Amino acid sequence: MARYIGPVCRLCRREKMKLFLKGAKCLMSKCPVEKGRKPPGEHGLRRRKVSEYGVQLREKQKLRRSFLIGERQFRNYYEKAALKKGMTGENLLKMLETRLDNVIYRLGFTPAIRTARQFVLHGHIQVNGRRVDFPGYAVKVGDIVEVRKGSTSRQRAAEALEASHAQEVPEWLHLDKNQFRGEALRLPTINEGRVPVDISLVVGLYSK
Ligand code: SF4
Repeated sequence: MARYIGPVCRLCRREKMKLFLKGAKCLMSKCPVEKGRKPPGEHGLRRRKVSEYGVQLREKQKLRRSFLIGERQFRNYYEKAALKKGMTGENLLKMLETRLDNVIYRLGFTPAIRTARQFVLHGHIQVNGRRVDFPGYAVKVGDIVEVRKGSTSRQRAAEALEASHAQEVPEWLHLDKNQFRGEALRLPTINEGRVPVDISLVVGLYSK
C-alpha cells in the first residue's frame, strides 16, 4: 500500500490548514501554517476562481492527508462506506477514525499519526490481549487497545502522554493512563472527526 514519506508540513501548507501531522511542533509558533507560509508552488501565482470540482477535491485531500493514506486506499474506504447502511459520509468518517493507528494517536500514546503507525507496525500494540501490527485494523466498540509491556513501548507512550497534545481524547474513547489502555465506548459521530471537513463535498466528488 503506497504511503506518503515526504515532508508532512508541505501537506498542511497545500491544504492551507493545520492537519496536526508532526506532534509537538504543530502547537508551536514555528509551524509553517501558523507562520502563514504559502502553499507549495503558489508563489507569485494569481488567484483563480476555484471550480466546484476543485473545492470537492481539496476537501477530499484534506481528509485523506490527515490520515496519511494513499489515494487507492482512500477510495476503497469510500466504496465500502457506500455499500454500508446509513449515510456514506458518516460511514466513511467512522471507518477512518476507527483505524487502529488513529485510535492510538487520539488516545495520546504517540505525538502524531505517523508515529502511531510506526508504533503499530513495530508490534507495540495489542487489541483484546493479542498483538496487532496492522495500522488499518478497524477498532470495534468494546475493543480494548493497549500498549504492550516492553522495554521501550510504555516508556515512549508515557512520554507522549505527558507531552502537550494537539487534541483532547475524544468522548467516544476512554483512556486509562495508568494501564496504558483505551477502550472504544462507541463509534464516533460525524462531528467528532479529527480534522474539520465538509464530508458532503467528499461524497459529492466520488458519487459523480
Ligand atoms: Fe507541520 Fe504540524 Fe504545522 Fe502541519 S500543523 S504544518 S504538520 S507543524
